[in-house]
Amino acid sequence: MPRVELPPDFLARMQHLLGAEYSSFLACYQEPPVAGLRVNTLKLSIEAWRALSPYTLSPVPWCPSGFTVDPSLDQSDLSSSPGKHPFHAAGLYYLQDPSAMAAAELLNPLPGERVLDLAAAPGGKTTHLAALMRGSGWLVANEIHPQRVWDLAENLERCGVCNATVLNESPSRLMQHFGTYFDRVLLDAPCSGEGMFRKSPTARQEWKPTLVQSCAMRQGEILSSAARLVRPGGTLAYTTCTFAPDENEAQLDRFLTTHPEFSLVPLPARNNMRPARADWVEPLSAHPLEGALRLWPHHLRGEGHFVALLHKSPSSEEQANRLAPFKIRPPDASALKLFAAFWQEILTLPFPENLHQAGSYVYQLPRAMPALEGLRQIHPGWWLGVIKTGRFEPSHALALGLSAQAAWRSINLAPDDPAVLAYLRGNSLSIPGETGWVLICVGGYPIGWGKRSQGVVKNAYPHGLRWMS
Ligand code: SAM
Repeated sequence: MPRVELPPDFLARMQHLLGAEYSSFLACYQEPPVAGLRVNTLKLSIEAWRALSPYTLSPVPWCPSGFTVDPSLDQSDLSSSPGKHPFHAAGLYYLQDPSAMAAAELLNPLPGERVLDLAAAPGGKTTHLAALMRGSGWLVANEIHPQRVWDLAENLERCGVCNATVLNESPSRLMQHFGTYFDRVLLDAPCSGEGMFRKSPTARQEWKPTLVQSCAMRQGEILSSAARLVRPGGTLAYTTCTFAPDENEAQLDRFLTTHPEFSLVPLPARNNMRPARADWVEPLSAHPLEGALRLWPHHLRGEGHFVALLHKSPSSEEQANRLAPFKIRPPDASALKLFAAFWQEILTLPFPENLHQAGSYVYQLPRAMPALEGLRQIHPGWWLGVIKTGRFEPSHALALGLSAQAAWRSINLAPDDPAVLAYLRGNSLSIPGETGWVLICVGGYPIGWGKRSQGVVKNAYPHGLRWMS
C-alpha cells in the first residue's frame, strides 16, 4: 500500500498505461519525496558551495548545480532544515525538485538573450534561467496570479537576479504587446500536478478527471500565445509536473498539428529519463513525440516531469518584432543627488547606468529593454531603493544583488553566530563601528541592511521576511 492515499481514477489510469511497470511506480509512493537543492551560481561557484555546505549532498546527473539532500536530515530541526538556514536567506540556493531542474538546463538560455518565463511563480525555473544567463540579457518573469507574482518577485530578489522584469499579465496580453520577440520562451504550464502527489496533500485532494480536462484546455490556449511570442529561429520549452497524456503527449500532438512552423527538438533520454509515449495519444500521433522526455519517480530521484523543446522555423513568415525602446525616466535632480550620496558613501562599485525612477522607487534597468506601457509591472528591473524625504533608503533587493566586497561598510557573521538569528528575527544588533548604512553578511554573503548609530545596528530586514521562530 502507498504511504499516501491516491485518487482511485488516477491509479486506474496509471495501471492501464504502465502495465508491467505499474507496481514499481506504485511502490515509489511508499518513499518520501526527494528533497533537491540548486546552487545559485549567480552568487557562488559549485566548488565554493561544496566547501560551505552543511548538508550531505548527491549530484543531480542532469543539472551541474543541482543536488539531492540527504533524506536522513531531520526536517523538524530548524537549524538542519535547508529552508531555515541563513544561507537560504542569503540566496545561495533554491530548494527545487530535481526533476524540475531539467527544464531550464534543456532550454539552455544564453547570456545576452531575450528570455520569457510565461508562468513563473514561485520562480524555481526563473531563478535557474537567470543563473544560466549569468546576469546578461533580458529575462521577463511573468505570473498571472496577483498574489503569487509577489512570491516570484521575492525569490528573484533573494537570488540576486538583477536583469529581470517582473510582470503580472495574462499570456494573451503579452502576446498582443510583444508579438514575436523572444529568443526563448518557457511555459511551465498550470497542470493537474500529479507529480506533486508525494509532497502535497492538496494536490491529491484537488485532483479529479475533469481537472485534467480543464488543465489541458487551458494549456492549449496558453500554448498558442506562447508560440507567437517566440521569434523565428527561437525555442519554446513546454513542461508540466503531471503524468496525464492529455496534458503532455496529446497536447504536443495538437500543438504540432496546428503550428507547422514548430518542430520538436529530439532530446536524448539520458540519466534514466524516458522518451515521451506517442502510443498514448488517441488516435495515434503522426508526430515523432518520442523526442520529448518524461522524468518518472520510479526511474530516477525526482517527483516527475514532462519536458518538450520546440524549435520555430527561422523561415517562419513572421518577422521578429521591433518594439519602441523603454521610456526611461532618470531620477530627477534631487533624487539623483540623494541616490549618488548613498552610492558613493556605501558602495565600492562604479556608478550605475540605466537608472529609472518610477514614483519614489529607483531601478537599474536591463539594457535594451522595449516599452512596457500598458502592462502590469511589478518591477521593471533591479529595484535599488526608495527616495524618502531628504534621504535614499536602499532596498533588500539591492543588498541581495551585491557581493560582500561591494560595500565599504559590512559586518560579516558566522552562520552559527546567535546574532544571525537575532537579525533574521528583526532585532537590533550591538556591534560598534562607523555610523550609517551597513551591509550584513553571513559567511561572506549579504543577507540584508542595517543602519548603525552609537554602536547599535537598527534592523532593515524586511518585515514580511522576518523569521518567527
Ligand atoms: N515555473 C514555476 C516554478 O518553477 O516555480 C511554477 C509554475 S506553476 C507549474 C504554473 C503557474 O501558472 C502558476 O503560478 C499559476 O498561477 C500560473 N497560471 C495559472 N493559470 C494561468 C493562465 N491561465 N495563464 C498563465 N499562467 C497561469
